[in-house]
Amino acid sequence: MPFHATVLTLYPEMFPGHLGHSLSGKALERGDWRLDAVQIRDFAVDRHRTVDDTPAGGGAGMVLRPDVLARAIDHADPEPGLRPRLLMSPRGRPLTQARVRALADAPGAVIVCGRFEGVDQRVIDARGLEEVSIGDYILSGGEPAALTLLDAVVRLLPGVMGNALSGVHESFEDGLLEHPHYTRPQVFEDVPVPAVLTSGHHAAIEAWRREQALALTRARRPDLLSRS
Ligand code: SAH
Repeated sequence: MPFHATVLTLYPEMFPGHLGHSLSGKALERGDWRLDAVQIRDFAVDRHRTVDDTPAGGGAGMVLRPDVLARAIDHADPEPGLRPRLLMSPRGRPLTQARVRALADAPGAVIVCGRFEGVDQRVIDARGLEEVSIGDYILSGGEPAALTLLDAVVRLLPGVMGNALSGVHESFEDGLLEHPHYTRPQVFEDVPVPAVLTSGHHAAIEAWRREQALALTRARRPDLLSRS
């Protein structure tokens, strides 16, 4: 069974978005993964198809109603426990490459996109939604966050990336940022490609790349080095 993503959203037309292009798009067409976008509004319980209401206790904005979202989840994910249920949320645990890898090994994911001020806490608890953040900033909705998460996951699925190796030596895979890259021309605006890279000496090249990766990580992301 290919990886099956179900996204619950008020804007299903935003999917597959950029994932319909390039390698992920071709993989989608081939059936190497599957994406369903479910309109939350279809599960409204009133004539006006209301999905949100004012926050209890007052304050700005609107909150997604728990009853409507619960109906949507129960319909979209009739086999709870099979696929992780995620809620895109700035309060969530920040997404990491390790989590992305774990998700790519799962049968799929059920992803809820918030809008407005957020989602009623009771449906988060009752339906076991795991909050996932894509960074310490606020988007206007969960859709670009869901697309970002799926982008990172889908490129790891079997058959999606043509060159299997280009998933291995990358930033974060070994806890380091990646070394710099060079290609032709040999000299660009008076700057040559580092000599070691054209030496043909594979061990020296490996050592140089490792050194560069370490130096970059130390300079830019020392927090990665102190992670166990
Ligand atoms: N009032 C909320 C922000 C709501 S933003 C708060 O302060 O926490 C509206 C929706 O956008 C959220 O429900 C969430 O689904 C999505 N969103 C915003 N920023 C996000 C982020 N950094 N990561 C993941 N989802 C995010």
